[in-house]
Amino acid sequence: MRAITRSLAVVATIALPLTAQLPRPAANTSPMLTQLDAASSRYANVARQIWGFAEVGYMEEKSSALLQSELQTAGFSVKAGIAGEPTAFVAEFGSGTPVIAILGEFDALPGLSQDTVPERRPVRMGGAGHGCGHHLFGTASVAAAIALKQWMQSTNVKGTLRMIGTPAEEGGAGKVYMVRDGVFDDVDAVIAWHPGDENAVTGERSMANISGKFRFHGLSAHAAASPERGRSALDAVEAMNVMTNMLREHIPDRSRIHYVITNGGRAPNVVPDEAEVYYVVRHVEMRIVKDIWGKVVNAAKGAALGTGTTYELQVVGSVYALMPNETLARVQQRALERVGGFTYTAPERTFAERLQKSEAFPAVPLESVAQVKPLAIGADGSASTDVGDVSWVVPTVQLSAATWVPGTAAHSWQAVAAGGMSIGFKGMMVAAKTMALTGADLFTSPATIGAAKAELVAKRGPNFKYETALGQQKPQLDYRAGSVP
Ligand SMILES: [Zn+2]
Repeated sequence: MRAITRSLAVVATIALPLTAQLPRPAANTSPMLTQLDAASSRYANVARQIWGFAEVGYMEEKSSALLQSELQTAGFSVKAGIAGEPTAFVAEFGSGTPVIAILGEFDALPGLSQDTVPERRPVRMGGAGHGCGHHLFGTASVAAAIALKQWMQSTNVKGTLRMIGTPAEEGGAGKVYMVRDGVFDDVDAVIAWHPGDENAVTGERSMANISGKFRFHGLSAHAAASPERGRSALDAVEAMNVMTNMLREHIPDRSRIHYVITNGGRAPNVVPDEAEVYYVVRHVEMRIVKDIWGKVVNAAKGAALGTGTTYELQVVGSVYALMPNETLARVQQRALERVGGFTYTAPERTFAERLQKSEAFPAVPLESVAQVKPLAIGADGSASTDVGDVSWVVPTVQLSAATWVPGTAAHSWQAVAAGGMSIGFKGMMVAAKTMALTGADLFTSPATIGAAKAELVAKRGPNFKYETALGQQKPQLDYRAGSVP
């Protein structure tokens, strides 16, 4: 409630006459939708291939190449290798202003390999899987960009259309380096989406976060014969974790701290001289994240002191909270309502019902995929995304489409299963159509872009200067090394 009140207050302060902000819909957009329908099996095939590649962050070579080739074939000029990220790319069509960019992701998650069946069955034991649906994300964005290009050509609309391929969203902060290095400097508006279990324009703030690996160094020794000569790096990791677990009681509500021990030593009869723990801290306010992160770093220092070890910290990621832009959200809401949801075939329904019987599924009716949720701006969400950083430098709008069975949690095998078959592909086309329509409306309404920018400036507050906790470091291209067999 607190956040909603503040959001309304901001709107009141900048006195945006929101009812006057909706532009007249762009003309002749129906052929775009027809064309996307006609190409839906082609795009399902693209998404299915990327689902099968299941490449993790910064290793998405085949996925990125496939999306680039689709764009090249459609007449975009494509530049690959952006901001020090070999799998990032920018595809461009047109010239001059406005510059409208569509974002596309394509990285998978370690350990979530899963077949398109409604029970747990990995395709490859321990392999990666598209548990966040980024194979659909990248493909829908390419589809929207190609449809929009054809609409621009047929209606002679001027401007620059970009499709920006953004790797390593899952913990690699791919877009953060792009924002830092100026990739978005001349962009006027950004359109994105994310797979989900409902059709809705995203009005929630996401959570800001900082993540990093604490690597402790001790001294190895025979654990029984000469333990007094050893210094256990694993002791340091455990001491640090005890302290941060106590810290949980003394931080603001809705903060999140998670960790995994990525190296705990190799053998119990050897005092581990190397150990590593990988932390993520989240909250919707970046200043609170920074404060908690400082305390976690202090816990590492204390642990090192107490165990006679040393440590180094490798900051892996840091993202801002997504700042929803109400001006753009209202335009996208109209587009989404025009596109509408979809219904399941009988086999899809059977699949969905069986999936919903698997563990921890809330009872959400399957019919909800046919609906579009009303627009709601300003609530606090629970996930994080590197789209957040983009949204602080360019007005950004994104939607969620029902690519997963209602009730599905992201990063689950159930998300991988539905995302690899027709349910996922149907939701993907809802997103593609909505983004194409949104883009057309923005290309033909400079006033909307102007209002969206004014809203962003007002929400950021005075003296805002973009900076990232990643500093000047290079993208950690190997942050997923060893995470897949
Ligand atoms: Zn995601």
